[in-house]
Amino acid sequence: CAPFAVAIERARLFEEVHRLAITDPLTGAYNRRYFLDQAAQECLRAQRYHHAVSLIMMDLDHFKQINDSYGHTAGDQVLRFVIAACQENLRAADLLARFGGEEFIILLPETPLEQATLIAERIRQSIVPAQVITSEGPVQVRVSLGVASSDEHTWLIHDLIKRADQALYQAKALGRNRTQVWMPILAPDSNPSDPSI
Ligand code: GH3
Ligand code: MG
Ligand code: MG
Repeated sequence: CAPFAVAIERARLFEEVHRLAITDPLTGAYNRRYFLDQAAQECLRAQRYHHAVSLIMMDLDHFKQINDSYGHTAGDQVLRFVIAACQENLRAADLLARFGGEEFIILLPETPLEQATLIAERIRQSIVPAQVITSEGPVQVRVSLGVASSDEHTWLIHDLIKRADQALYQAKALGRNRTQVWMPILAPDSNPSDPSI
């Protein structure tokens, strides 16, 4: 084997190992560790240059029921479908990751809240009319989404995640299959009856 071919093969293997280290094997989306690493850097950049950065947290509705009714394999096919639906509505600079089992996170650089909300709604609405064709038959899927954006005081990735998570929790509480934008009133430590606020 020519040394050149060996070098090419080694480079290809190196790339493959790197790809496996940063992606989720089921969906091909980035994994949580890579997301947090990249998103933290993007948030720092946004703060330095006074750019808006937004975050979408998405969770499948009643996914346990889908697994229970159709089986885990069909559930896996649903997860892949949802990731593909997200990818179709995102730009190259956006960062999409599988954050937990059936929870996904999207970082939108250079994107203010209104625009991020439109993107979240576009994702939700692209999923609603579709029946996912699984090996166990067609499955109806719904998702809930929480949206948060950076502001002058809040731009650390963990704070944005906390906010998007609070909005997602609210979307679930309001009946699911919806997009909820974070507002200060959603923070557990805000007390709307406190007149000093
Ligand atoms: P909610 O609308 O409140 O989010 O309800 P839910 O049923 O979606 O939420 P819950 O947290 O009760 O269930 C999540 C389920 O996701 C349970 C778990 O078995 C399933 N799950 C997590 N990871 C995977 C996976 O990789 N494949 C499949 N098929 N299921 C998974
Ligand atoms: Mg769920
Ligand atoms: Mg969940």
